[in-house]
Amino acid sequence: MGPLRRLVPALALVCTVGLVAPASPVTAADPRPGAAGIGDPYFPLDGNGGIDVLHYDIQVAYDLAAGRLRGDTRVTLRATRALTRFNLDLLLPVQSVRIDGAPVAFRKPDQHELQVTPAAPLRKGQTVQVAVAYDGHPAPITYAGEQNWIADEHEVVAMNQPHMAPWWFPANDHPRDRARFDVRISVPSGLDVVGNGTLVGRTVAGPLATTHWRSAEPMASYLAFFAAGSFRTASGTHRGLPWYVAVSERLDPAQQSRAMRLMKQTPAITAWLTRRLGRYPFSSTGGLTTALPVGFALENQTRPTYPVLDHGGTSTVVHEMAHQWFGNSVTVRGWRDIWLNEGPATFFEVLWAEKHGGPSGREWLDRAYRDLRANDYFWRVRIHDPGPGHLFDVPIYQRGAMTMQALRSRIGGRDFNRLLRTWVRTHRGGTGTTRQFVALAERVSGEELGRFFRAWLRAPRPPARTRANGL
Ligand SMILES: [Zn+2]
Repeated sequence: MGPLRRLVPALALVCTVGLVAPASPVTAADPRPGAAGIGDPYFPLDGNGGIDVLHYDIQVAYDLAAGRLRGDTRVTLRATRALTRFNLDLLLPVQSVRIDGAPVAFRKPDQHELQVTPAAPLRKGQTVQVAVAYDGHPAPITYAGEQNWIADEHEVVAMNQPHMAPWWFPANDHPRDRARFDVRISVPSGLDVVGNGTLVGRTVAGPLATTHWRSAEPMASYLAFFAAGSFRTASGTHRGLPWYVAVSERLDPAQQSRAMRLMKQTPAITAWLTRRLGRYPFSSTGGLTTALPVGFALENQTRPTYPVLDHGGTSTVVHEMAHQWFGNSVTVRGWRDIWLNEGPATFFEVLWAEKHGGPSGREWLDRAYRDLRANDYFWRVRIHDPGPGHLFDVPIYQRGAMTMQALRSRIGGRDFNRLLRTWVRTHRGGTGTTRQFVALAERVSGEELGRFFRAWLRAPRPPARTRANGL
């Protein structure tokens, strides 16, 4: 998520720990119900047990005037153990569920969970296609203290973190399970639709047009997005990489021009990051500026979304594009590791400034450290495990970026660059944890860094001003 954070703090999390099925000694060959959660203690109902989604084929018709969403989505999934039943995450009312074309039993034990019972248990390794028909109004729905649907009668943009998918499609909603996506959105034919990846085509039938976007590379469910409205678009290819950008025509003409100039910086910023980090992980790039009052930017895969940015725009694009490596290609294993997304993304804003006439990273760190009082709340947030209500607090970004610059000062620029490149290469398409990052930093630098990372990530006080702490 971008430097502009959500304006309303997330509400306290409702404790739902008791709903997750306990571990059991039975083997994966004995059919049993899949758990209601994937096992992330921050959000016990997020994701599900026993399934691995391979592909989402999302078909959604959205009525902007009525705020009503009708969906018919096919989820191709593989059973990772023998299952008598399994769950998907979906907040909308469900009409029917079919497996490989045949109707099956389902229920909604609570608002977030869709429980599906196949006619016969699924074998471990069996792949099935689950078709879910659903229909409802996403805007009033609240989950985990979040009311995430952003729309008016002219424009809609499905963007949020850590939760967005269950407001518009049934998902195994956790970054641990990535899948490929085909997304078809039907809206009145006068409107445009923008999504992740590559535009496959657009067909008009009566008053509606259906636009089809495809994500060729696997994607976490929270990074899947669509926007519908009236957009100015531009596209092209930069150093072999296709790009596509869009700007809402609901903005005034001066804002549109400024936003389009900013969006068009994306291909060059993508190339700048590629020179530092190695191969760009996806097959297209771009961005979208919405007129809706979203209040934050988000790193949707290949196509981040932005509010109108009056200043600091380039820096925000650098941040969201850095997330394509840190957060999208290498996802967090659990949400407690969120600093591994936001720390590097914010650090690349610092590096961009350093390379474009601003203060050096060292100067930036020195000033940031001096400007913070020792007893500030900032230092009490333990960014290695901040708690579900603090995922997007300022220290996750700022202390995270300070940790990166301090590490750069401590182990030297050459080892630091090698660490980042090795991290994104070896974890590409997978997950990463803080423990793994620390281990790799020690391996690459040949230094013992336990005390360094304890001081920066875990201690509820400022790190001492020492060379060992990179200060
Ligand atoms: Zn971010």
